[in-house]
Amino acid sequence: MSLLVKNASQVVVVCSKMQKFLKSQDIAEQFIVLENTSVAIDHSGLISQIGPLQEIISSTPESDFEKVIDATDKCVIPGMVDGHTHAVWAGDRVHEFALKLKGASYMEIHKAGGGIGFTVDKTRAASEEVLLDLYLQRLKLMLRNGTTLVESKSGYGLDAQTELKMLKVIEKAKLLQPIDISSTFCGAHSKPKGMDEICATKDVLENQIPAVLDAIKNGEISVDSIDVFCEKGVFETESSKQILLAGKEKGMMINFHAEELNYIGGVEMGVSIGATAISHLEEISDEGIQHMASSNAVAVILPTTAHILKLKHPPVKKMLEEGVIVALGTDFNPNAYCVSMLTVMNLACIMFRMSMEEALVASTLNAAASVGKSDMHGSIEVGKWGDLVLIDAPRWEHVIYQMNASEIISHVIKKGQVVVSK
Ligand SMILES: [Zn+2]
Repeated sequence: MSLLVKNASQVVVVCSKMQKFLKSQDIAEQFIVLENTSVAIDHSGLISQIGPLQEIISSTPESDFEKVIDATDKCVIPGMVDGHTHAVWAGDRVHEFALKLKGASYMEIHKAGGGIGFTVDKTRAASEEVLLDLYLQRLKLMLRNGTTLVESKSGYGLDAQTELKMLKVIEKAKLLQPIDISSTFCGAHSKPKGMDEICATKDVLENQIPAVLDAIKNGEISVDSIDVFCEKGVFETESSKQILLAGKEKGMMINFHAEELNYIGGVEMGVSIGATAISHLEEISDEGIQHMASSNAVAVILPTTAHILKLKHPPVKKMLEEGVIVALGTDFNPNAYCVSMLTVMNLACIMFRMSMEEALVASTLNAAASVGKSDMHGSIEVGKWGDLVLIDAPRWEHVIYQMNASEIISHVIKKGQVVVSK
């Protein structure tokens, strides 16, 4: 299948020199929006040409394309990249919403038997088929919202058997729907009931990781990254470090939760062991910001969680000014039920004062960098995957300005195939 998207009012290519990420300082000079532009995608699903229509059809006549979309009065942006999700689970937590509105904190709900403990019980009890069905429904909604690459974690099993079940669900979904998935093992997402930190760490190191490695060796799953909920009273920095290093030794990228509720030096530890990405960062220190800026570890910021749990806002403006690479994610999970990177960009601009350009880069190129995939994803450049979102608006900023903007998405294109159309 070859595809020509012709005469778009604007094409946000993001950048044009195969940059792996853009820091805030680079965006002013290197963020690129082309006017009246067309994009060609070849039979392999790769972008082959970008430019004025006349230029493209002088080398490949329009009739040679198997499909042509007239994008007059529309804009094109890259497929969105969601840098952080927990999308495999059973049992929603709508019942906790009222408690939160009355002021209960995350930890208070957790102690009352709700929160992650509730989801772990439901996920352990659910069959692989039920979990897969729920996960596919959620991925379909993400695709409808323009997401073409997603990071997806295990972490509601907290035992070897259920963590493996979740990773197998992720693996199966890779073959059953169009979104590319970067898979993350997060067995250290919380301490299982009845286990202290030492026992839980031992279980991850001695039971869960070996089981995951066996399944990788047998070709049942592939795992790109390892994650830990590095937090006071959960997995503190030393336990987190042991778990993350055990994954790194086996070739996994380090991509973990740190400094969400309390500052405990998780960022400093993560940078010292070569973290690719660190999420949350509401409580990051000034020193931590400097460490992230100099190491090029990607900060994955999650506005839905800060919004829903009324957390202190992460110092995003300061991170951007100091040269940290900033990405965004929905953090889709039973606590923050959001599948839309468009909503996330709107929240990030309003809550954290990101510019619209910074938010778009954070939701495309930089989010792809957070999972080590910005060589093929996150910008519209020749040689990258033909992942595009077409919007019914004359200027691209509508996709952030219009709250609940998914209705303005007219097409989602994945590797040259139209996978969503109005
Ligand atoms: Zn998370």
